[in-house]
Amino acid sequence: MAQEVLVVEDEPDIRRLIVLHLERDGFRCRTASSGPEALREVRAVVPDLVVLDLMLPELDGLEVCRQLRRDATTATVPIIMLTAKSDEVDRVVGLEIGADDYVGKPFSPKELVARVRAVLRRARPDGAPGVLSQRSVTLDPSRHMVTLRGRPLELTPKEFDLLHALLQAAGRVLSREHLLNRVWGYARADEIESRTVDVHVRRLRAKLGDAGTRITTVKSVGYRFEVD
Ligand code: CA
Repeated sequence: MAQEVLVVEDEPDIRRLIVLHLERDGFRCRTASSGPEALREVRAVVPDLVVLDLMLPELDGLEVCRQLRRDATTATVPIIMLTAKSDEVDRVVGLEIGADDYVGKPFSPKELVARVRAVLRRARPDGAPGVLSQRSVTLDPSRHMVTLRGRPLELTPKEFDLLHALLQAAGRVLSREHLLNRVWGYARADEIESRTVDVHVRRLRAKLGDAGTRITTVKSVGYRFEVD
């Protein structure tokens, strides 16, 4: 599964430009155009990295960064700040409150993509995202392996991605639309495609045995993996 970047930028042209270059480089992108939207998106599903513009409506980038660092589930998500100001102070403050790097505007998109790669490498020296574990279920993305009570479990690639998304959400509800987009790459869901999610969830539950009961259906919304 491609690494996912949340691009937070209120100027549509710049947002599109960043997404274009990141996707061209193999990243998956989600976007947000304000501070509160950014917080909602990160909390819904923690991305692999956040590109965060400093000047945003409602809640600026510094405050978004501060809030993400305060919350245990988002405290370690790598953040690259975009700053239009030449003012050194913002950069220093940004790094002090926990941004991993900053890129000054105007910037070259290629430079930004290179920084994204560098920060991700630093965040995970072995290039592997973290192991996710809930009671008897452990998922290791770097080895593409799931174990149930320590024993390897055979999952199809879609089942694996589905479980990965559910575990990463750490108890939050994921809508069918979100899962279709993330696991299947569909831009939007119609009824038949939504049933695809249901079918795969059913198979995944069956394979997980007792632990499968922890994947709960949230009526007319989607699914959640109940965490401790
Ligand atoms: Ca801005």
